Amino acid sequence: MRPFFLHDALLDLFFPRRRCIACGGAKDVRDGLCAACESQFLPPPEPFCPICGEMVFEPGLCKRCKLAQPSYAAARVAVRYQGAARSLLLAMKFHGEFDLPTRHFARRLLAVLQREGWAVDAVVSVPAARHTLRRRGYNQAERLARRLAGEAGLPFLPSVLSKRRGMRSQVGLGAAQRSANLKNAVSPGPRIRQVVGKTVLLVDDIMTTGSTVESCAHALRAAGARAVYVLCAARRFRHARPQKAETPDPDDLPEAQK
Ligand SMILES: [Zn+2]
Ligand SMILES: [Zn+2]
Repeated sequence: MRPFFLHDALLDLFFPRRRCIACGGAKDVRDGLCAACESQFLPPPEPFCPICGEMVFEPGLCKRCKLAQPSYAAARVAVRYQGAARSLLLAMKFHGEFDLPTRHFARRLLAVLQREGWAVDAVVSVPAARHTLRRRGYNQAERLARRLAGEAGLPFLPSVLSKRRGMRSQVGLGAAQRSANLKNAVSPGPRIRQVVGKTVLLVDDIMTTGSTVESCAHALRAAGARAVYVLCAARRFRHARPQKAETPDPDDLPEAQK
């Protein structure tokens, strides 16, 4: 039923991890994370917009969802993008470290999925641009989505979407340019027909403005998906009180500084 747990339990039995994967410390390490780092995984701030999950100051829809409803039914994240959660996601994204990060985040995302009670038929992931795939050799969002699908007992549908190129920044674009930019960023993949009539769970690692998941959801709905729900491992909440000094998003940095 849950092959990953058995596999992980066996690995831990024979090769116990003595150091924390996030900080390298050796104090109170359980399941690859020390107690201090584990305590840095914080849930999203409340109240949040019932559609996109962005923090709001009064209960109800956020400004953006009031103006235009997204293509997805709802989006939620497991934790805030900061502290040890950020370290784990960066280890996954830039260093190809998957075992522990996907295990930790898949468990948290499964808990969110169960709490929300979304009845989904299948799991898909946000695609990586071809040049990124060539450079890194993996798509961390897909690794996370596959693991979550395995633990949720849901099918994972590969190659449903593809990313044309690095999306232009939305900053400074007018409404028409914005929507053209979004539509150009993600296109149907070779197996898009698999989503027809299905309620799909779209998975990504880090949610920033929400424009990537919106363009994916738009492509899925346009291809005939009945509904799209979104789960992301972490999100940066710009107005939430930061626990630490703000650090720039790695996607906004030139390659050399990552
Ligand atoms: Zn630690
Ligand atoms: Zn919203």
